[in-house]
Amino acid sequence: MAEVRLEGITKRYGKTVVIESLSVTVRDGEFFVLVGPSGCGKSTLLHLLAGLDSPSSGSIFFDGQEVTAIPPGERDVALVFQSYALYPHLTAAENLAFPLRVRKRKLTLTNSAIDREISRVAEMLGLNACLDRKPSELSGGQRQRVALGRALIRKPRVFLMDEPLSNLDAQLRASMRGELRRLHEKLQITTIYVTHDQTEAMALGDRLAVLDQGRVQQVGQPQEIYAMPANVFVAGFLGYPPMNLLQAQVEGDMFRAGPIQLARPHEVPAFDDHHSVVLGIRPEEVIVGPPETVGGKDSAAGVIRLLEPSGAAMWVTVDLHDENGSRTVIGTARSGFAPKIGDSASVSFSRATLHLFDSSTGQRLEAG
Ligand code: ADP
Repeated sequence: MAEVRLEGITKRYGKTVVIESLSVTVRDGEFFVLVGPSGCGKSTLLHLLAGLDSPSSGSIFFDGQEVTAIPPGERDVALVFQSYALYPHLTAAENLAFPLRVRKRKLTLTNSAIDREISRVAEMLGLNACLDRKPSELSGGQRQRVALGRALIRKPRVFLMDEPLSNLDAQLRASMRGELRRLHEKLQITTIYVTHDQTEAMALGDRLAVLDQGRVQQVGQPQEIYAMPANVFVAGFLGYPPMNLLQAQVEGDMFRAGPIQLARPHEVPAFDDHHSVVLGIRPEEVIVGPPETVGGKDSAAGVIRLLEPSGAAMWVTVDLHDENGSRTVIGTARSGFAPKIGDSASVSFSRATLHLFDSSTGQRLEAG
């Protein structure tokens, strides 16, 4: 187990800067998720941590000891990839044992000690019944468990996982997430997990680092980031459907976003008239109902463009338009309201929590 600290890491390929002055500390025993869109530099960062590549500048420390120049084999990290990379000619048991066999002399392990370790890991991952099978005779979920088991068997200081569940179907992925969390509670090995999937990041991480274009946008607990996104990128990235982000102007104690006029909640700072802001409102706080419910300042009339049923909720995309302009918002259907595409509807924001961002920098604006 180890604390992992990245200090001022920059990675360039030729003239392209892929990671820029990135500093983050992963606590000992933490499940830490690096999340961001494809191409933001997550895998590059994981490769730097594993020692498969070196940073252009900056340093990496495990428990305060610099490892930047230490080769992968001596870092004591275990990597799990999206492709399981199992040896096809070896059984599940032999695949599990592989990391111990190659280090057998160094670790001074006997064959029976290796067998005991195979049983321990197989028991933990529910693989007892398929230990004699080759990878081609295993299901996707079983193969992924063998790949995890092979990483677990030598109790690394740090676990590095690069989208390890993305080849599994949705149901299996959800159940493997649960298993990963359970294993983590039991083993408490510092884990750094890469994913582009914000749902997965929220479900797994003790803390997350949200990345965009090689830069850390925000670090924190999932709920903390969800409740207080630091900028418009994070606001739009975390949560599904994404937060409504509306260009707006200050008009006295009101915000005007085209056809939408919202009263400024008292916790939101006052601004000069005509100040430009971006208003953020989560779709679960935008209620879409029949057209006759329009009324008051915090509601507007529109036409339904899209419907997305999600079991518990019905997400409704509504186009709003009047002489002040046009906006499109996603909201949730009022209970009892059966929306149809093309129908008129009302949208109400009356109880909404407003997130406010500077319209030029995209940074969150805080009260006070
Ligand atoms: P992610 O894992 O977030 O999808 P990557 O870390 O794989 O992103 O890649 C980040 C960026 O770095 C991408 O734009 C990618 O094209 C670029 N990149 C990655 N590896 C190399 C390389 N060896 N040479 C040049 N560019 C690379």
